[in-house]
Amino acid sequence: LNDRIRIKEVLGSDMVNHNITIMGWVRTFRNNQFIALNDGSTNNNLQVVAELGHYNEELLKRITTGAALKVKGTIIPSLGKGQKFELKAEIIEVIGDSDAEKFPLQPKKHSLEFLREIAHLRFRTNTFGSVFRIRHSLAYAIHKFFNDKGFIYLHTPIITASDAEGAGETFHVTNFDLENPSKNEDGTINYKEDFFGRPTNLTVSGQLEAELGALALSDVYTFGPTFRAENSNTARHLAEFWMIEPEMAFSDLEDDMNLAEEFIKYIIKYALDNNREDLDFLASRLLDEEKQKPQNERNEMGLIEKLEFVINNNFERITYTEAIEILKESNHNKKKKFQFLIDKWGVDLQSEHERYLVEKHFKKPVILTNYPKEIKAFYMRQNDDGKTVAAMDILAPGIGEIVGGSQREERLEKLEERMKEMNIPVKELSWYLDTRKFGTCPHAGFGLGFERLVQFVTGMTNIRDVIPFPRFPKNADF
Ligand code: ATP
Ligand code: MG
Ligand code: MG
Ligand code: MG
Repeated sequence: LNDRIRIKEVLGSDMVNHNITIMGWVRTFRNNQFIALNDGSTNNNLQVVAELGHYNEELLKRITTGAALKVKGTIIPSLGKGQKFELKAEIIEVIGDSDAEKFPLQPKKHSLEFLREIAHLRFRTNTFGSVFRIRHSLAYAIHKFFNDKGFIYLHTPIITASDAEGAGETFHVTNFDLENPSKNEDGTINYKEDFFGRPTNLTVSGQLEAELGALALSDVYTFGPTFRAENSNTARHLAEFWMIEPEMAFSDLEDDMNLAEEFIKYIIKYALDNNREDLDFLASRLLDEEKQKPQNERNEMGLIEKLEFVINNNFERITYTEAIEILKESNHNKKKKFQFLIDKWGVDLQSEHERYLVEKHFKKPVILTNYPKEIKAFYMRQNDDGKTVAAMDILAPGIGEIVGGSQREERLEKLEERMKEMNIPVKELSWYLDTRKFGTCPHAGFGLGFERLVQFVTGMTNIRDVIPFPRFPKNADF
């Protein structure tokens, strides 16, 4: 297998007269002669030319859409439109047959919803090829960004006893034994049997653990799967998603915002520099979608323009209080009718409000700071006004919140006081509180949902279409 060459490499260099071997899957087969072969390294197919009369009927019949082939041949200049090279086949071998009658991929476009139902097919489409190659590239860029800045990649646990966000969206871990179930004191079966005697759940955030790392290693980040029992069907929530969570010692909210903005711009630039072909493909796909919309609902910018705009302009930074004024005002002027009316200070923003601020009001990404403490987690640093915390959310067009971060409460008394107010068990989190007793210091960090970032970069509207195996209510097989 090892002498095969990827199609991307073949198309990207001048290999005329080279004798090569490629392997891939048949996209189309025309006139018993022209095979469009794809191996997932690029959306561009390599045209394989099977000389007429050279191959037996039996073999030709097996070259069907979806079949896996091995082709040995010589690269020649192509006379066809849109391709420089093609492969003049000398040996064609069918490695895996594909039942043409049953193969669901037709040359026509399928809806993304339809493709979500057919796991094997989804991966063979250009749209998902582009999305997953970009996703891979961004994951690599994330490690590169933090590594170059001297951050340590800290692996935080998936099984944990804490609900860091305190939002009650945890999935319980159980090792329930059907044959030999554990019993409650009254003899009934204990269906909630736990982790060897300790109730645990799947992590909703690696932040508390990352804080421990930061208060020793200075700058750390975690990047791993995160689980939330989101029993909702929105375009930006999954039950299993990946989160990037950096944590920096000796840092405040300002440092946190600067890091997040720099990070997002770096990742976007990385994609523009390294995934241009796939981005261009997705941009043209989006353009087709836009054309279906009425003129006044179309996006002003194409995907590439949007990404370039984001890296070349500062994010708008305003306080939560200012945002509420803008939203109240826009409602008052009947500029925008929200489903959920913002009429007072203290309520949490919904995605419609976040998107209004970004898409209509400022027309750029927005960093909202100093949220009311009542709608934020216990660990955020309390401001002197007694009402707000040093939190920041970054809002992006098309999605709304993509980052949630804060300066952490480093003062033990303040932290304990807040935990008591919020009924968070101080004793169970003593391991965490110890950091405030032994060399505490100002520190800050944020969580960025990887899928929301991929959504933003690829322009995909539904978060389910940027993860290979989406988990959402009732969807857990593939
Ligand atoms: P939302 O308001 O959208 O529910 P959140 O405020 O509950 O998000 P945080 O606890 O602040 O989320 O988590 C940090 C980041 O993780 C979010 O800004 C978002 O990018 C991402 N995130 C949170 N929940 C989900 C989810 N269910 N699916 C995908 N990404 C998520
Ligand atoms: Mg949430
Ligand atoms: Mg939120
Ligand atoms: Mg948040």
